[in-house]
Amino acid sequence: MSTTLGPVRIREVGPRDGFQNESELVPTDEKVRLIDQLMRTGLRRIEVTSFVRPDVVPQLADAAEVLRRITVPPGVRVSVLIPNSHGLDRALELRDRIDEVSVFLSASETHNRRNVNRSVADSLVGLSDVLERVRDAGMRCEAVIATTFGCPYEGRVPDARVIAIARELIEAGAHEIAFGDTTGMANPLQVRRFFALAREQLPDVELTAHFHNTRGQGLANVLAALDVGCTSFESSFGELGGCPVPPGATGNIATEDLVSMLHEMGIDTGVDLLALLGTAVALRDVVGRPLGSHTLVAGPVAWRS
Ligand code: ZN
Repeated sequence: MSTTLGPVRIREVGPRDGFQNESELVPTDEKVRLIDQLMRTGLRRIEVTSFVRPDVVPQLADAAEVLRRITVPPGVRVSVLIPNSHGLDRALELRDRIDEVSVFLSASETHNRRNVNRSVADSLVGLSDVLERVRDAGMRCEAVIATTFGCPYEGRVPDARVIAIARELIEAGAHEIAFGDTTGMANPLQVRRFFALAREQLPDVELTAHFHNTRGQGLANVLAALDVGCTSFESSFGELGGCPVPPGATGNIATEDLVSMLHEMGIDTGVDLLALLGTAVALRDVVGRPLGSHTLVAGPVAWRS
């Protein structure tokens, strides 16, 4: 594989973002089996679960058991999503199984209130405490800012507002900021402009893009972000995940499609695409329905001379 632009870093979020949005409970045994398979595809970062309240998200009630049971090869970094300090308490009981913690909030006031029932300012105060404890525990921390590129309730979110929130999170100790488009509202020109600004304004922190393919623009947005130097992306095997509003909306960009596109462009990811496709096939068998990933349907690009 020749490398012209890469390497690109990919965090696989399917076991968290994906399973969280599955209506049928995925058995713990199947989760462990699929995550173990993902761990052997060359993916270096995997978000394996979330310590959300089990009564609110029963699908992830097995977070601790999954973390305990997965087999993590050397060089693979495990991350978990933490909604608040109580979630962090539970995660810290398994400190030796976790490399990175992700926290989240929305840039839009209305979306944040609907999602976590708090103002953005209150979320920032709460997350500052969480970030301090994460740092004290010696873990790396990613902060995800949802609705960076638009909010279903408020429309366009000003770039300056997103950057200001990112600054506060960095000052509170975040090592990485992910900009999320969980409702699939971003367009490539907007993404290019935003990441150019973010790189200029936030020079000393890893910037990550978290795109959804809700309107089929996920990979176009990846290319736009790449063009202005963003080389860290989050995606989900099988295109799992996403906001289930409206019903039937697709999820995160598919990791297979992302890897396929990058490899065809000569950009290294470290991922074995065939192994990843094998994992997506196993996932399709577990969820028992067709998945949105294009490469899963069409197969990898095969050049014949
Ligand atoms: Zn997502």
